[in-house]
Amino acid sequence: MYHIEFDIAAVFLTLFIAYYIIFKKGIRKHANRVFLGMIVINFIAEISDIFGSLANNYPEMTTEVIKDFWNYLYISSHNTLAYVLVVYVFYLIGYEKSKRTLLLISATPFAAEMAILFTNPFHKRIFYYDEAGKYLHGNLFFIIYAIALAYMIFAIYLTIRHRKGISSSITKALLFFISITFVPVVIQIIFPEYLLTLFFETIGLMGLLFTIESKEETINPTTGALNRYALNGALDRAMVNKGNVLLLIKIPNLNYYNKMIGFDNMNGILRRISQWMDETFKDYVAYDCGRGHFAVLCEGITDAEIALIREKTMSRFEKAWGKGEFSLVFPVQFGVIHLLEDVKTLDDVFMLIDSTFDGKVSSDLDVQKAVYKYERGVLIERLIDKALKNKSFEVYYQPIWNSNEGRFTSAEALCRLIDSEYGVIPPDEFIPVAERNGSILDIGLFVFEEVCRSYQEERLKMLGIEYVEVNLSVVQCLSKNLMRSFDEILNKYQLSAERINLEITESATTENQKVLYDTIEVLKNSKFSFSLDDYGTGYSNISYMYEMPFSIIKIDKSILWKAKDPVSGESEKNGYIYLENTIHMLKEMGYSVLVEGVETVEQKMLLEELGCDYQQGYYFSKPIQKQVFTDFIKVVNT
Ligand code: C2E
Ligand code: MG
Ligand code: MG
Repeated sequence: MYHIEFDIAAVFLTLFIAYYIIFKKGIRKHANRVFLGMIVINFIAEISDIFGSLANNYPEMTTEVIKDFWNYLYISSHNTLAYVLVVYVFYLIGYEKSKRTLLLISATPFAAEMAILFTNPFHKRIFYYDEAGKYLHGNLFFIIYAIALAYMIFAIYLTIRHRKGISSSITKALLFFISITFVPVVIQIIFPEYLLTLFFETIGLMGLLFTIESKEETINPTTGALNRYALNGALDRAMVNKGNVLLLIKIPNLNYYNKMIGFDNMNGILRRISQWMDETFKDYVAYDCGRGHFAVLCEGITDAEIALIREKTMSRFEKAWGKGEFSLVFPVQFGVIHLLEDVKTLDDVFMLIDSTFDGKVSSDLDVQKAVYKYERGVLIERLIDKALKNKSFEVYYQPIWNSNEGRFTSAEALCRLIDSEYGVIPPDEFIPVAERNGSILDIGLFVFEEVCRSYQEERLKMLGIEYVEVNLSVVQCLSKNLMRSFDEILNKYQLSAERINLEITESATTENQKVLYDTIEVLKNSKFSFSLDDYGTGYSNISYMYEMPFSIIKIDKSILWKAKDPVSGESEKNGYIYLENTIHMLKEMGYSVLVEGVETVEQKMLLEELGCDYQQGYYFSKPIQKQVFTDFIKVVNT
């Protein structure tokens, strides 16, 4: 006699779960749909188990056809559930195209099992009925168990293997679901007539429902923190009265770090950051708004408390996150939004959350400016993509005057983005955007290759151009593949690295020193030479200068202009002394000195007096197209 009471209870639970997901508003993701599929299959299994058992209990009251119908339906649906569980785990860990084959391969045991099951009428090895019409298992029935068991083990394996990419509450719920299905197996050894399996599975599904399905929309699965939908709801409430504050904590360039250490590792770090926020800002709620942008909603907070949070954040971010090889120090940006004062609408709040700040740290928000900057940033990202796709970036050259030899011995390569619709986008505008979204890596390689090709094709060496200066973003220096790509390009054009001088700006030097030094070391060993760009504008960092193998220091035009203004010819107070001493100091330290922004003959003469080695500026030439540049050099250098 089979006892169907538990199955009946399970049916009601299943109906409740189905009601809950179907009538709950929210975004439907693949994983949700698969979950709904699991519920439906579970329901079919329960119904068929009930009717199948009744038919088996009272064989004399039914026909074999009816019994068959329910038994086949039960076994097939119940075993489908095991495979769908695996599919579900695939979606939770992030299903991508690359996993499609694995998913298909893992369907083969299921297909084989179904083939054996549905050929049962011929071989009767799965189940059969005795003379009295009693339902009995055949000698191959164990295959059904074995395959279900194998899928469960596979699901456990996948969950544990990819736990880095799933939040811990989801991992726990999955493992709970899988392990609870083992309980009835044990009980049924003792009480084989109690049909407990589906009941326990339904309990497990409920566990899943409450941790995953109900939270999925408000929890970011990678960090386990509340997400922007949750924030949206909270802001609705918080933006009724003035006095509430939203703190923004952002890691710029997340995409770039993703590329550098990989998604899994970066997700692990983000999770740690959000845990740290939970522990540190206990009184307030932290939200993960994606892309490394976090927001902390503080109701009834004082300025002193804000200052304290800021202090704690800044000092924590001075230390590395993550462990071992993948540990990183991030710059962090901190912003304070006084709700209903700085911003009036939810849209504006989210715009500020998504936008990236200028500078390293910012607590002043100008919404108008931020809106403009955000939209402009989005446009520029699009134009960069387009230009990369169409290879429409251009490289201009600005000749560099060698005062000692009285001719042009080098040039600086400067990248140009000229869009057919939007005109010229200045590098000062698109380079920072490209650094943020990582496309600087592609732009940098494009410029490098373009320079190498031109150097070779235009025979610049013969024209007296000994090397070309190429700007190198620090973001490029953090890329592990940089050297290999440079090598390949140099080989392709049969060029020696001595023909390239890499310019690095001073301001770019404070973060990730170690990786930067390592890259520079490798580049140096392959004979590249280096210039320090924009000297005098950044946070002068002498130890940095000592440790890096610079041969040329490029003094920024602002220093020259303070010594001799290009328009008035005047010198600001102490401007001349500063320039004179800077040049002398650098020369005594053994560097060659280049001054940028030379616009007048007076400036040129002044620099010659001061013993400056190289000069660059509009007085000699603006940055010009390659062809114009070679023609120019041909005329002036020969
Ligand atoms: P930078 O490397 O300091 O380049 C010098 C900038 O000063 C250039 O601006 C140049 O056109 C300008 N300049 C040169 N002589 C004079 C002058 O006499 N007067 C004035 N007022 N300006 C002068 P540009 O081309 O707009 O580039 C701006 C910055 O964008 C560059 O500063 C560099 O940091 C960055 N950049 C340009 N191309 C690239 C590139 O291919 N890769 C990277 N990473 N950065 C680049
Ligand atoms: Mg430069
Ligand atoms: Mg410069």
